[in-house]
Amino acid sequence: MHAIIIGAGVAGLSLAASLANRSVRVTLLEQESAPGMYASGRNAAIARSYESDPYLSMMVKESILTMYHRNSPQRELIRQTDLWMEPLEYDYQEDSFLEMHSDALKENFRSQTGSVDLPDGSRWKALRLASGGIMDPGAILQDLQESARQGNFTFMPNTKLAGVTIGDTSITAISTDGSYDSGFRLSGDDVLVLATGSWATSPPAGITALPLVPHKRHLFVLRSPHGPISSDFPIYWKENSEFYVRREGPQLIATHGDQTPVACDDYAADASAGERFSEAACHAFPFLADFQLVRHWACLRTFPLDGRPVMGYDPHLANLFWHAGFGGRGMSLAYAIGDYSADLWLAGPRLEDETINPFTPHRFF
Ligand SMILES: Cc1cc2nc3c(=O)[nH]c(=O)nc-3n(C[C@H](O)[C@H](O)[C@H](O)COP(=O)(O)OP(=O)(O)OC[C@H]3O[C@@H](n4cnc5c(N)ncnc54)[C@H](O)[C@@H]3O)c2cc1C
Repeated sequence: MHAIIIGAGVAGLSLAASLANRSVRVTLLEQESAPGMYASGRNAAIARSYESDPYLSMMVKESILTMYHRNSPQRELIRQTDLWMEPLEYDYQEDSFLEMHSDALKENFRSQTGSVDLPDGSRWKALRLASGGIMDPGAILQDLQESARQGNFTFMPNTKLAGVTIGDTSITAISTDGSYDSGFRLSGDDVLVLATGSWATSPPAGITALPLVPHKRHLFVLRSPHGPISSDFPIYWKENSEFYVRREGPQLIATHGDQTPVACDDYAADASAGERFSEAACHAFPFLADFQLVRHWACLRTFPLDGRPVMGYDPHLANLFWHAGFGGRGMSLAYAIGDYSADLWLAGPRLEDETINPFTPHRFF
């Protein structure tokens, strides 16, 4: 079989690595010159294992645990950093995960109620997660790509999927712009995979769109008036306002949790975002009031309407597979979603409901 994966973000590369390691031929098309130009390269890189969705909860813990185990002196995928948070919902899977694993690191995944001294001297009562970490997205993308290259893997940069030709119930050809500008016909064992991030919300004509919506979020770099941030600065996260802040070298990265529905290619930062951020920062964590905004950027988090990613075969076209909608958790899920989708991909198209596959695209029809 042959997987033609569109999109070299963390989603596309994770599936490429899993399929290539199971002896599937993989061709990965990417419209940019390198992986990670969009959400996968511009996110906040916080690994958070505490998750209320029961299915994502197990996956994200598995994935973060794998990252810790794949850390090496040559390549640090994740740096342990205590995560202090006020969650809105409870993670009911924590105990099951802890019971399932006999791993030496698993105790770090047990959340503990405690209190922490904030930089202004105030005390904050919150949940502490020792499994928290700051990821290195570039290192993760490289690790996944190298893993894919151990199998039968071809990477085609600067190649954009421009259109598809549809037969009775399958895609018979694709057209591309860029390095391979003529496109190609699909044979009986070819399967097209959409791992196109925010562009998955507006697939080529002929493919029925799923209810996926890109949401714009801004991230801000802040400079402290008191000098460089110390290396033991934790991650603070208030879920009721979606405000989080973490260390980035001598500075901080934070967001006020904005999420504005936008078009799939609207990555422009809003000029007025800084004002709204500063106001929110003073409410969420008053110690940030005298920090200086150094720069900011925007990126898109793509959510299905029910908030759960989409992994599985299309209900209408037999050789189309979806691997998208990873919202605000895609980076943390890097080492779980590839294997999950690879199992489904290899099983082939079938009638599915959420009891068989909670992430099935069939749930929308
Ligand atoms: C501001 C922000 C903060 C975030 N913070 C975190 C965090 O702290 N922790 C966490 O775990 N996650 C975080 N995320 C979420 C995470 O970044 C995403 O879930 C993840 O990166 C999505 O990966 P993806 O591969 O689906 O999409 P993308 O990274 O967008 O990749 C899609 C790729 O498809 C390519 N493509 C699209 N259309 C075509 C086409 N027609 N032909 C060829 N190529 C195409 C694009 O060029 C792109 O490279 C954050 C996201 C944002 C925006």
